[in-house]
Amino acid sequence: MKAIVYRNPNDFKIEEISLPVLESDEVLIRITASGICTNDMRDFKGESNYTFPRIGGHEYCGVIEDSGKGVDKNRFKKGSRVVSYIIEDCKECYYCKHGMENLCEEFPKSRIFFNPEGMSGYGGFAEYLKVKSNDICFYPDNTPFEKMVLTEPLACVINSVNAANIKFGDDVLIIGGGTMGLLHVMAAKLKGARVILSEPLKERCDKAMELGCSEAFSPLECDPIQRVKELTSGRGANVVFNTTAIPSVAEQSIEMTAVGGICLLFSSIHPNRPLAVNGGTIHSFQKTVTGTVSPTIESFQQAVELIAKNLLDPSVLVEEIFDYKEFDHAMKTAMRPDTYKVVLKFGDLK
Ligand SMILES: [Zn+2]
Ligand SMILES: [Zn+2]
Repeated sequence: MKAIVYRNPNDFKIEEISLPVLESDEVLIRITASGICTNDMRDFKGESNYTFPRIGGHEYCGVIEDSGKGVDKNRFKKGSRVVSYIIEDCKECYYCKHGMENLCEEFPKSRIFFNPEGMSGYGGFAEYLKVKSNDICFYPDNTPFEKMVLTEPLACVINSVNAANIKFGDDVLIIGGGTMGLLHVMAAKLKGARVILSEPLKERCDKAMELGCSEAFSPLECDPIQRVKELTSGRGANVVFNTTAIPSVAEQSIEMTAVGGICLLFSSIHPNRPLAVNGGTIHSFQKTVTGTVSPTIESFQQAVELIAKNLLDPSVLVEEIFDYKEFDHAMKTAMRPDTYKVVLKFGDLK
């Protein structure tokens, strides 16, 4: 099978590698499409200090090709459309036992990140990938791969929105109108909120308005904290999601949060530095400042339901679909700051 192998930072080759050998409880997925994530870009550039060689790609979808001896062939039928929960949770540690498998203690030590003897990586930038059968989530046969490929990013957003406990009529501010920001717009709208977006690019503001946002403004053309207060009768937003990596914006996001509100740091802070936070106002105004990372298995399945039942269509955020052989061009397109989700396809997307 063919795979896009990173040999060194910023250096890849499309290589022929052997097909994975299945354990009894594993399923072989023939990958049809894989999205390129911000983390894939950092990874490719060598900013994440994981071991090379590596195969990136964790936003994949595909069809079942084969399964191990112990897998129920009635449930896991060849040709079924599937995605897989990407966190290889141990199911044994403290966090796994408390429904926080996205924070599994063992996962950061796995060969996905460090494999000095061989290949590291999630492996989604390849024609085939093997996963544990119990990590698989199914789609109906008529769900397009262009939608399925956004399951993982949407699942991260669903985990974030679930943590924010949005109430009907809440003012929800989303900072940043990239792929993750606009998925937040769509999900918060479904929760019955009035959604406000802060985003410098006009085209992104327009897109957010098409997706159901009530107000969108550029933080470069006004005082963004003042603007949010004006839009919310002086209160600030009940829920703020920061989807940008910029430390000063994370600081502002806490200021934009209403009394009794929740500020959720969705994005990593990159490059990371401690934030200057007014602890007095967090105390006096009973603000909750929190974060989320990755999806839980529940939010992953919820993303599948939203897409499969046509309650949310994330494919409006697909910028361009490239054949995987055009990886170089695809990666360069993904790295442009004005693009949404860039997708690689492996063969025909029918
Ligand atoms: Zn991702
Ligand atoms: Zn665990």
